[in-house]
Amino acid sequence: MNSSDTSLSAVPTGAHLIGGDWSTHAPGGTATSDNPARPDEPVGEYPLGDASTAADAVSAAVDAQAAWTALGFGARARILEQAAVLFDARADDLALVATLEEGKTLPEARGEAVLSAETCRYQAGLAKTSTERIFPSGTPGETIRTVRSPLGVVGVITPWNFPILIPVWKIAPALATGNPVVWKPASNTPLTAVAIAAVFHDAGVPPGVLNLVLGPGSMGGALVADERVDGVTFTGSVGVGHGIRDVVTARNGRVQLELGGHNPCIVFPDADLDMAVAAVVGGAMGATGQKCTATRRIIAVGDIHDELVDRMAAAVSDLKVGDGQDPATAIGPLVSRGARAEVVEAIEQARAEGAETVAVTEGVPDGPCFQAPTLFVGGTDLTITREEVFGPVSTVLRVDDEDEAFALANDTEFGLSASVFTNDLWKMDRAINEMRAGIVKVNGPTTGSEIHAPFGGDKNSSGHAAREQGDTAHEFFTRTRTAYIKPGSPR
Ligand code: NDP
Repeated sequence: MNSSDTSLSAVPTGAHLIGGDWSTHAPGGTATSDNPARPDEPVGEYPLGDASTAADAVSAAVDAQAAWTALGFGARARILEQAAVLFDARADDLALVATLEEGKTLPEARGEAVLSAETCRYQAGLAKTSTERIFPSGTPGETIRTVRSPLGVVGVITPWNFPILIPVWKIAPALATGNPVVWKPASNTPLTAVAIAAVFHDAGVPPGVLNLVLGPGSMGGALVADERVDGVTFTGSVGVGHGIRDVVTARNGRVQLELGGHNPCIVFPDADLDMAVAAVVGGAMGATGQKCTATRRIIAVGDIHDELVDRMAAAVSDLKVGDGQDPATAIGPLVSRGARAEVVEAIEQARAEGAETVAVTEGVPDGPCFQAPTLFVGGTDLTITREEVFGPVSTVLRVDDEDEAFALANDTEFGLSASVFTNDLWKMDRAINEMRAGIVKVNGPTTGSEIHAPFGGDKNSSGHAAREQGDTAHEFFTRTRTAYIKPGSPR
């Protein structure tokens, strides 16, 4: 496929959305959004906001809050249902913009758009279910019940690796529960963010209820420091997330964090190897390894090690790296030159530390962001087996027995996802109960989740707020009040 196949009409004009108006106010100048697969073909331009842009958006959200809350759950749900219709209808256009900016394959980007529709539909339905609880009272005639009210103005800060779905995971439940939103997306995917904001805007979200501000991380810093922002939901790196946590909690705001991972997959000797090889290679290398849930450590137990490594090496060697718009491509480029530089440095360091290279994908196109998926065999002394490298690199570690496998799997500061391959019920049970991770898969990849089930991590992978997605998503976005109600005496 060449550039003439690209319908650039799908790429929206870069603009903020503040108070229902599209704005190209650019106090920080104008920036270019790049295509990592085609560095000579910029995707488009967008305005750079600053702290004043964030403040204007928060003002718009504050002004919109009372009416949005008063509109009621039914009317809010109908708007989200219309957003779902538009996400489905615009799935191809959204996928194209995301692929152009992020580099991922078109089917994967399209999948994000379709799951965004599903998320809006699910959260709209959930808004109509009761989250109240009733308790017995020690006082005769009294009822105790909890009621939920909206949290208030919500700041949403998102990364580029799932540029459609992660924002919608956050925005849909925030809106459904009656909160106005100010959203700052990642600078690598600003035009995808504009296309998403347009979906909600066109679906009938009232002015000021969803505000989009484009600009650098420092603008995000101004957003989270704003006293009028009641809560911040963030997905991204550990360093930035912890900085946001410190600022928001210092002013007694609420914060939800989804951060990094170093996800293990244990392959036991009784594993279905066909299933394990496909899932581990997909989990490690899929989406160019740029998933927080990617498989970073593959723990092979006993004699299965050699056959597992041979078969994984063959599968990694056969991967097709290329432009995400090419239907033959399995693995797109890394998101940026900077991201590639970090991955190259980590690979060189691993080799210098003694890692054995067992597979490197061949036939990788020239270009500053393309990176060959690489499989290592090594031990826990390798930095790469402890620190997250956000790219298509993974390491097989050999252990002798089950106890060693589970201990090694848990020997990380992170705890986002984990998986095991076995048909032994005892080992499955140990995995579910002993692996310190927010998501545990049995005979499945560490990657992937369903939008109606809770998502989040343990240890340094998440904060302490309620899980995202599923029927727990509304907990972060609402305040619980406990009401004690008893009748007075008749006159
Ligand atoms: P960053 O933390 O750098 O950026 C995430 C978002 O925060 C971007 O919108 C960024 O804006 C913004 N930001 C940057 N600095 C600040 C600041 N000081 N105050 C407020 N906002 C700021 O992460 P990456 O974009 O590099 O994303 C990759 C990382 O995210 C990986 O480490 C990965 O593990 C993690 N991640 C975790 C997920 C999870 O669910 N647990 C899912 C996806 C990724 P800008 O782009 O303008 O710098």
